[in-house]
Formats: sequence, structure tokens, C-alpha cells
Amino acid sequence: MARIPREIIDEIRSRCDIEDVVGSYVSLKRAGSNIKGLCPFHSEKTPSMVVYPSSQSFYCFGCGAGGDVVTFTMKYHNLDYMGAIEYLASRAGISLPQSFEEEDRGVPRKRVYELNLAAARYMRECLFDPQIGGEAMRYLHEERKLSIATIKHFGLGFAPNHPFLMLQHLRGLGFTDDEMRAGYIEAISTKTQKPYSIFRNRVMFPIIDTSGNVIAFGGRVMDDSKPKYLNSSDTPAFKKSRNLFALNFAKGNCAERMILCEGYMDVIALHAAGYPFAVATLGTAITSEQARLMTKYTKQVIITYDSDEAGQKATDRAMKILGEVGMDVRVLSMSGAKDPDEYIKKYGAGQFTKLIDESRRGFYYKMNVILAGHDVNIADEKIRAADEISTVIAEFESGVEREVYTDAAAKNLNIPHDVLKNDVERKRKRRIRSEKSKEAQDARMSARGIGDKVNPDAARYFAANVAEETILGLLLEFPEHRAAVVSGKVELAADDFVTALGRRIFEATMELEGSEGGFDYALMGESFTPDEMGRMQKMMRMRRELSENGLPVLIDSIERLKAEGEKAKAKSSGDRLAAIEARRRELAKKKEENT
Ligand SMILES: [Zn+2]
Repeated sequence: MARIPREIIDEIRSRCDIEDVVGSYVSLKRAGSNIKGLCPFHSEKTPSMVVYPSSQSFYCFGCGAGGDVVTFTMKYHNLDYMGAIEYLASRAGISLPQSFEEEDRGVPRKRVYELNLAAARYMRECLFDPQIGGEAMRYLHEERKLSIATIKHFGLGFAPNHPFLMLQHLRGLGFTDDEMRAGYIEAISTKTQKPYSIFRNRVMFPIIDTSGNVIAFGGRVMDDSKPKYLNSSDTPAFKKSRNLFALNFAKGNCAERMILCEGYMDVIALHAAGYPFAVATLGTAITSEQARLMTKYTKQVIITYDSDEAGQKATDRAMKILGEVGMDVRVLSMSGAKDPDEYIKKYGAGQFTKLIDESRRGFYYKMNVILAGHDVNIADEKIRAADEISTVIAEFESGVEREVYTDAAAKNLNIPHDVLKNDVERKRKRRIRSEKSKEAQDARMSARGIGDKVNPDAARYFAANVAEETILGLLLEFPEHRAAVVSGKVELAADDFVTALGRRIFEATMELEGSEGGFDYALMGESFTPDEMGRMQKMMRMRRELSENGLPVLIDSIERLKAEGEKAKAKSSGDRLAAIEARRRELAKKKEENT
């Protein structure tokens, strides 16, 4: 199973201490011999994620996420196992053997970077070639008013309106069709089975990561054809949800504030106008990963989405996601222009700086939107506005914030402060109550295995699953129990397991046990998802918390599992018989009806 040399994994684990790694994303506090922090995998206000330095593992008591440093990295950065290994290796300054990188990914990330760089250079040449890119240059320079310096600064290019000109050029540089397909430069036509260029007749925006690699492209049409924007899909070099356009330029200029725009053109216009701290998401709504990425570089984000209805909705969503990672969120309100690009062209950069300085904290922005939607001189409308605003205020955790906002809202609505405050606190209590009861319900459901996505068989075979979790916890945690299974001292085989997950964990555990070097939890990550790894952590933790973990417990659980397995078999054949019987009755009934 283990294609990655064990020494490398050991080296990574010894150099990437779990406390350091988790601590670089989550603020951790000591609690006895363990360390606690807010779980990044579910939204919570009180810490329920525990990091165990002694076993180099973590577990969240709220959502069940758990595992080792590799699992954490996989889940946090949305990487596969290989990606997490590469990430941690580079963090620790360990170089991975090239051969094994290639073996796993087909096309190594480095090669995709080289391909992208060559493609970016080619498309820049096309843009500056009047024969090929004349129209595109006119569009950028004359219509969008970008200076040649700005066009060069952002490395803009033009993808020729030709099915394979670019492919030919890149082949000439030694790139293979496989590499171009992996890098999202080439696709195969379903009609003709021939390769063609994905980007054609588009102005091209290279997307560059903070290390200076060209990781992807965005392409925009120059007329009204669709799609307006086309972006590279995820490749070995690129995950949309984890990058931001122009962060490579913004990263040194955004310590105080960062401007979040809707599109690439807005970002470029802002940089050109003297705001080199603007970024944009890559053709998708902002993700929590991008929000966390922003917290690494800045304290404050100013949202400048379009002022239309879709833009308002996107603003609300971004406010929520950025608020969840603790960002100071501001919203810029523009009037007289639909986006920053248009605004600066119309009113000049100086006026835009005023807007930035006047950008409002999320609450004031929301309050203004609500007030603008109601005529507060009419009693009914005023009541409705007060109701909506108090709902918004009730969402804030900090009592000081609630107090300050209540004050501002009371003044705006011209109603007594205490009246509004009572409404806010009542709503807040109601919200907390309903959250608590939902938590309790979730806990009851998960205790019965209902809605268990990690092990979908658990609810149906409840008793068998309890026995399996005991057995697997013992095997994962104690070498002597694994030895007992290997030697045949206790009889246990994969077929004894009832749930598919239990069987897989057992098989992988025993396979590793029999391999050179023996079992190691860290190596399981190659075959299991982070959620499954978390489930194993839970099984091990439950054993660690109990004092009875001897052979009798193992034997007793195996007996119970075997008995449950018999029942399960009977149940499923019973189900089949019942189904046949029901079908027979149904047919008989139909026959009766027909005669
Ligand atoms: Zn959690």
C-alpha cells in the first residue's frame, strides 16, 4: 500500500510538530497536558478541538474531525494525501524524490508551472503582435484605458482565435499533450477526437501565486459572447478555492487593509490607480479557505462588489464568511457607478480614497440597506425596519458591539434605546436556545449513528458497529492486540466485519502490520479520507480514556460482533425474502384488479 517511503513520512512528522502546524492557523490555549482551540472545520464559539502533543494528534469533540498532522493539512487546505505530504515537506524544507512525485500525479506540479509560464509568455507575445493581438490590444489599451505599463505589469496576454496555434508552439518547446491536458491548456474534442486550445480569442489574465509561479489563467471575451470569463479548472498546480488574483502584488502592501473586488478588471484598475492592495476571487464566490488566507496578510477587508442585486447578495455572503474568521470587514458603498473601475474613471482616484475611508463596518452597511428599503415615516414600515435591524444586531457575540449598534440603530429609527435593546436580547436568547436544541438533537442522532456520513452502515447495524469500534480502537492503539490477531491467538477475519468501513480499516491495519516496519497510524492516511481518519482517532481516544483494554475486552467484542454478523446476514436475507413476498403480493393484486 505505502508508495511513499516510510522514512519520508517519519521525517515530515518529526519536523512538523502538530502543535506548530495547527497553531499557525488556530490560536491554541493550554488546558492541562492538552491544548485547545476553536475548530476550523465547523463553526463554533467555544473551543472544542483538542490537540494532543503526546500522540501528535487532534480531535474535535464538536464535529468529530480528527487525525494527525497530515490529516489536518489535508482537511484544512483541501488537499489530497499527496498534496498534504508535499505541502508539509516544503514547510519543513524536506525535498521529495522527484520520481515519486511524478509517479503519483502523472504530471508533476513543477512541470505545470513551466508549462503555464511558457503559455503566458506566448500569449503576451501574441498580444503585442499587431497581426494577431491588434484587436485585443485596442480593447485593453483604448477601451479599458489600461496603460502599456499596467498591461506589462500584470503580464496580460491574448489567446489567438485558432484551434491549435498555441498547442503547436508549446509542443515545439517540448511540452507533451498529456502535460497540456493536465495543465488545462488543451482539451480533446468529443466530435473529432482532436486536441484543441481551451482558451481562444480571449484577453488572458495569468494568475500568479505568492511564490511567483503562474498557476492558472482567466480569460475574458472582448464582446458579449458567453462565457464572459473562462478560468482554468483545478489542476495539479491550482485550486481555485485557495488562491486570490493579484495576491502576489498585494501581499506586501496590504498589512492594514485589503480591497476585495468582484473581477480581474477591477483589481487591475485599482492597482493602476494607486491601490496595490486589491485582490479578487477567481470566478467563484469567496470560500472560507480564501478568507483564512486573507487573515495571513491583512487585518481588514473592504468589500467592493458591484452595486446590483447579485452584488448585494455576494456582499452579504462575503461578510459572513470573513466575519467567521474574525476579519474586520468593511463594505464600500458606491453610487453613480456600478464597479470600482467605472467609478475611478468617472470621479478619479482621489474620490475613491474618500470612499475607502468612509467604508463602513459590516453592521452599518447592513443597517443602511435596511433603512433604504423602508420608509420609516410610516409606522408599519418603521416597525418592520426595527425588527430586521434588531435581528442583525442579535447575531453579534460581543456585548459591547450589540450595545454600540443598538445605540446607533435607536438614533436612526428614533425609538428609545431600551426598547430596541429588549428586542435584541430577546432574539438573541431565542437564537441561542434554538442552536442548543439543534446541537442536542445532532448529538442524539449521531449517538444512534443516524446521519453518519463517515460510516453509512452504522445506523442499520448499530450493535455491530459498537463492537467494531471497540475492536478497531484496540487494534489501532495496542500492538499486542494486533499481534494476537496475526498469531491467530484470537480469531478475527475481514469477513467478520459488518460495516464496509470497519472491514476496510481492519484490512488496512493488518496489511500494514504485516509489512516491513509494521503498523503506523500515519500511513493509513494514504487509503482513508480525513473524515475516516478522524473516526479512527475517535475509536483510539475512546480506548485511551478507558482502563479496561485487555485481551478479554477484545475477545468479548469479537464474540459480540460475530453474533451481530449472523443477525445481519439473517436480516439481509430476511429483507430479500420480504421484498420477494411483497412483490408477489403486488403482482397478485394487480392480476385481481385486471380480471
Ligand atoms: Zn469541529
